[in-house]
Amino acid sequence: MSLLKIVRLGHPALRTKSKAVTRRELKSKEFQKFLENLAQICDKNDGVGLAAPQVGINKRVIVVHVDPKNPRYPNKKPFPLTVIINPRVVTKAKQLKEDWEGDLSCNLRALVPRPKTCKVNGLERHGKPVTYNLINNFHARIFQHEIDHLNGVFLLDRVKRKETISEPSEWKKYWKSKNGKPNKAGNSHL
Ligand SMILES: [Zn+2]
Repeated sequence: MSLLKIVRLGHPALRTKSKAVTRRELKSKEFQKFLENLAQICDKNDGVGLAAPQVGINKRVIVVHVDPKNPRYPNKKPFPLTVIINPRVVTKAKQLKEDWEGDLSCNLRALVPRPKTCKVNGLERHGKPVTYNLINNFHARIFQHEIDHLNGVFLLDRVKRKETISEPSEWKKYWKSKNGKPNKAGNSHL
């Protein structure tokens, strides 16, 4: 059983720039166990992504997993459970797209504009370099959202239309089925 818990907005770990993971650290049993725990916590909470600062650990690690079995995202293109160490956005589209985002650390959602696509470099869990060419907007959004966490940036910082910042009950009431609002995708829970 993992003792790690998701921290809530206001916790300093969510506003701290995280440290790069060293090769030596990556090879340790303890760190590998941490990676497993982080992935489990992401799945247990039906998240599509989780960053280490969200469990109070300021290391540059993210998890992404778009599982077709996830009840929150029945219609999203799947992305296998993936742990990325020291991830970095190397290129991103000029064109932005707005979509709803939420967060496991805070019960709010809002429309967040982000580059539509991006390319991310990093290391897989044993230290092999990996590159993800994220042409699917939802996938690109998750990666960007999680990498933001590593820099102490929270989704609310990126919101342009502040009036869209909503609690779930009000989101359902006022935003869910508004015409012209990109809400078909529902809320991202990252
Ligand atoms: Zn998040």
